[in-house]
Amino acid sequence: MTDPRRSVPRTDDVLADPMIVAACRQLGPDIVRTVVHATQHRVRQGDVAPEDTIDVVVASLPASGTTLRPVINATGVVVHTNLGRAPLSISATDALVRAAGYVDVEFDLHDGVRARRGLGLLEALRAAVPDADDVLAVNNGAAALVLATTALGAGREMVISRGEMVEIGDGFRLPELIESTGTRLREVGTTNRVTVDDYRGAISEHTAAILKVHPSNFRVDGFASSVPIAQLADIGVPVVADIGSGLLSPDRLLPQEPDARTTLRAGATLVTCSCDKLLGGPQAGLVLGSRDVVDRLRRHPLARAMRIDKTTVAALEATVRAGHSPVQTYLRVDTEIRTRRLAARFGLDVVRSTGAIGGGGGAGVELPGWALALPEQACASLRTGDPAIVARIERKRCLIDLRCVPPADDELVATALAAALT
Ligand SMILES: *Cc1c(COP(=O)(O)O)cnc(C)c1O
Repeated sequence: MTDPRRSVPRTDDVLADPMIVAACRQLGPDIVRTVVHATQHRVRQGDVAPEDTIDVVVASLPASGTTLRPVINATGVVVHTNLGRAPLSISATDALVRAAGYVDVEFDLHDGVRARRGLGLLEALRAAVPDADDVLAVNNGAAALVLATTALGAGREMVISRGEMVEIGDGFRLPELIESTGTRLREVGTTNRVTVDDYRGAISEHTAAILKVHPSNFRVDGFASSVPIAQLADIGVPVVADIGSGLLSPDRLLPQEPDARTTLRAGATLVTCSCDKLLGGPQAGLVLGSRDVVDRLRRHPLARAMRIDKTTVAALEATVRAGHSPVQTYLRVDTEIRTRRLAARFGLDVVRSTGAIGGGGGAGVELPGWALALPEQACASLRTGDPAIVARIERKRCLIDLRCVPPADDELVATALAAALT
C-alpha cells in the first residue's frame, strides 16, 4: 500500500497548470487556492485520484467572480426586493455589458470635448415624459427624494399629510430620511383624512414646498380622503411628489398607481421616483420637472455623491427607449397552459395563485394566476439546487408560480422538479 499523501500533487504544480493559471486571472488567486487545498485534501482522503486533481479543481471552481447566484423567481411576486427587484430586459442587459469598458458616457466623440453625462439617457427620458422640462437621474428613489428635499427644504419646512408619513420596508421610514436632510416636516390632517384647507392653514414664510408621498405599500379603505395634486398646485407653493414606483405614464392595469406624466400635468413642480420597480430598469432614481428646480438640484454639491454609474446609464436608457420591460410582461402574463403542462409531466396539482407587484408597491393589487403545488419540503431543495428556485410556501404547500419565470426557463424548472420530487 502506498501512502496517498505521497502522491498528492504539490500546490505549486497545480497552480502552474495553464487552466488553473487562467482561472486565477479570472477569479483571483485566493478562491482558486482554497479550491486547490480542498481538492488536495480529498486526494489525501482517497476520494479523488491524484491524476484527476486538475480536472476536479476546474470542475469545483465557481462559474463567476461574483458570489451572487442567479435565481429563478417562482414566488409570483414581480418586484421582489430580496431577489434584486426588476429583472433587466435582454436589450438593457446588452447595453449594460456594452458600457462595461471605456464609453463616451461624458465625452463628445465628434468635437473631442467633455459632454453632459448620459445625454442619450436624458433625451430618452424627456421623450418618454414630455411634460418634464428637465430630468436628473441619481442612484435610487431615496437619493432622488433626499436631493429634492435638501436642495429645496434644508433649514425650512415641507408640509406633508399625516397619512403619508410612511415606512417603505425593512425599517426605511421616509420621514426620518427627509428630516435627516435638515428639512422640517409639518404634518397636516389625520391618519385617514386631509383637506386642502389643512394644507393652506399650514403654509407660512417657512414653507419650502408641499410634499406628497405615495403610500406605496398600504392602502386606507373606508372613511379616507387625500388632496389631488392639482388642488395642491393651486395653493401657490412648489409641490414635490414622490410617486415611488416609477410609472412614466398611466398603466390601465394599475389605475391607483400615480405616474410621472399625469402628476406633472396636474401641476407638480417635481416628481421623484425609483427606476427598478414598475419602470423595470436598473437601480436608479429620477427627478423630473421644472427646468429651474431640476437645474438647482443638478448643481447641488450632494448631486455628485448620487451620480449614477455608466452601466446604469446604459441599462436605464435601453429600458426607457424600449418602453416595455420584463416587469410589464410579468404583470400581465397568463401561465395556465405552461403550468398545466408541467403539472401533467410530474403528476402535480395545479392551484390558483395570487401574484403581487411587490417591492413596496401596488398595495391591494392582486394578480390572478396559477401555481404547481408540491409538498412543503420541496421548497428547501429547490432553493438550494442549481439553478436556485425560490418558491412560495402557502398553507403548508410549496407553490411554484411561473409568472416571473421566462418561458425559456421552463425546462430548467422541470429538471429541478424531477430532482426535488425524488
Ligand atoms: C420605493 C420607494 C422609495 C425608495 O425608492 P428606492 O429606489 O428603493 O430608493 C421612495 N418613496 C416611495 C414612495 C417608494 O415607493
